[in-house]
Amino acid sequence: MIIVLKKDATREQVEHIMEKVESLGLKPWLSEGVERSIIGVIGEEDMLRALPLEGFPGIEKVMPILKPYKLASKDFKPDPSEIDIGGGIKVGGNRIIVMAGPCSVEDEESLIDIAKKVKASGASVLRGGAFKPRTSPYSFQGLGEEGLRYMAEAKERTDILLVSELMDVRNLDLLMRYADIIQIGARNMQNYDLLREVGKSDKPILLKRGMANTIKEFLMSAEYVLSEGNPNVILCERGIRTFEDYTRFTLDINAVPAIKELSHLPIVVDPSHGTGRWSMVSAMSRAAIAAGADGLIIEVHNNPEEALSDGDQSLLPEKFEMMMGGLRKVAEAVGRTI
Ligand code: PEP
Ligand code: MN
Repeated sequence: MIIVLKKDATREQVEHIMEKVESLGLKPWLSEGVERSIIGVIGEEDMLRALPLEGFPGIEKVMPILKPYKLASKDFKPDPSEIDIGGGIKVGGNRIIVMAGPCSVEDEESLIDIAKKVKASGASVLRGGAFKPRTSPYSFQGLGEEGLRYMAEAKERTDILLVSELMDVRNLDLLMRYADIIQIGARNMQNYDLLREVGKSDKPILLKRGMANTIKEFLMSAEYVLSEGNPNVILCERGIRTFEDYTRFTLDINAVPAIKELSHLPIVVDPSHGTGRWSMVSAMSRAAIAAGADGLIIEVHNNPEEALSDGDQSLLPEKFEMMMGGLRKVAEAVGRTI
């Protein structure tokens, strides 16, 4: 850590800071410059982080050197992690994994119909929310366990894997039973108790980025799951809030190469929530693959006009099929398969 001292820091203030650092068993090095002096600190940074250093008289700025996340960082594990999601399928390898399905599970018949179609088009995972995080308490909240039962039926009939969202720790057992991947939604990215609980299992976790969270905070949330012992974390960029309001969110494609620079964890992209418009989903899916994403999660509905949630951003199965054709070419161009 580097502590930059104020120009007018007094000798007593500097000595006090040096003593404080030493009292933690760390080694401070004072480097006195003409304009400005700095203190370099060698040793475990975590202890220093706990101190409100920027509040100390004489300190201008504190610059940590180490990243606050460890298990999620590439320094800890330089090779990319491949997360086994079942059925011999891995996220994070050469093959791009596509997850597709309705925003919410609505009824058994249409879910099975969608499952068959997305599977035939090349999706390996069926998405479907049974517990829905809705802005309004009066909106459709999901079918709960009944929805998960329909998903299980779709899996049985089509041999597709399942991803579904967990919002409340009281439903963890249910999700553990039915889902192959447990989704933690954007609104719960910083629900640390929930993160710790899913971290105690070894179930693959699809961790979506909060709409107002930085990449560093995103990786800190992954760290919560990893630090409880679950190494199976798949990150998901799903768009962030910006001043732009033409689209529902702004899909932060930057996050894909950024995560690749910082972490060994795979990252998938959700262009459905990222744009909020079905007409933009194909273009942003192509962009995601070109940027290095390990997978996609796409909303597909057989009757978007009547969808109980997110119809505006849901693709018809025929559109999804067409999109997959285009994605194959982009994947090939970047040396991957889909
Ligand atoms: C969803 O996947 O349907 C969803 C609610 O996503 P997010 O948490 O990214 O808003
Ligand atoms: Mn949705």
